[in-house]
Amino acid sequence: MKLRVLGCYGAEFLGYKSVAFLINDFLLIDAGNISSLEGVGEFSKIRYVAISHVHLDHIKALPFIAEQLMEEVDKGLEVFGTEESIGSLRRYIFNGSIWPDFSVLPTPQHPAIHYTVIREGSPVYTNGLTINAIPVDHTVPAVGFLIGDGRSSVLYSGDTGPTQKIWDAANNTLDLKALLIEVSYPNRLRERAMITMHLTPQLMVEELKKVDIKKGVLILAYHLKPPYVDEIRKEICEMKIDNLILLEDGDVFEV
Ligand SMILES: [Zn+2]
Ligand SMILES: [Zn+2]
Repeated sequence: MKLRVLGCYGAEFLGYKSVAFLINDFLLIDAGNISSLEGVGEFSKIRYVAISHVHLDHIKALPFIAEQLMEEVDKGLEVFGTEESIGSLRRYIFNGSIWPDFSVLPTPQHPAIHYTVIREGSPVYTNGLTINAIPVDHTVPAVGFLIGDGRSSVLYSGDTGPTQKIWDAANNTLDLKALLIEVSYPNRLRERAMITMHLTPQLMVEELKKVDIKKGVLILAYHLKPPYVDEIRKEICEMKIDNLILLEDGDVFEV
């Protein structure tokens, strides 16, 4: 499985791009930005978007993706999300006020986007990939994703504070090759992390203790809030966690 980091930060600010991960060129995990794609050719390959939750740093590019797809008749994009997330996208973004309802445009027969509800325990299948949604603990309904191709699996935490189910899923996945875990604030802002339901490096380490991490499994940390990147990076480096990589925009992994 090819994992390409289009953006890995918890906001978009001065050179930091908000979260979007491209898998095998056709599945986007969250849609915080697509500005690092090179041209319409790469863009056109994207057929599916899985949205972990509707915070802006995870959906910001979706309205513009939808609009661009108006130009590509018969090439609608399938948007996977929980019932709550899809309801919010319809109600608050694609509502004809903030942005057009691209689930009926350019025509109801060939809309730019189709919504597909993804539920815990009921995976969806796309071009050889299986996508499972696993609830996590955040300030709005949110899930992480377990994505597998039959040979390897990648776990994506989405935004979460201390949680459990997704780590149980990690422990039940024998072919897990990479675990993406969020870390948003430095240790001194633990209180803010708890209130906003995110992790600090110390909280991240507590979460990782819940996972039986096999040798060779990559731990990929992401979702740093831009004002604290240097501070968080320093704290994580000092922890010297085996196999942990702090992601950067543009990284590519074969897992
Ligand atoms: Zn976020
Ligand atoms: Zn969030």
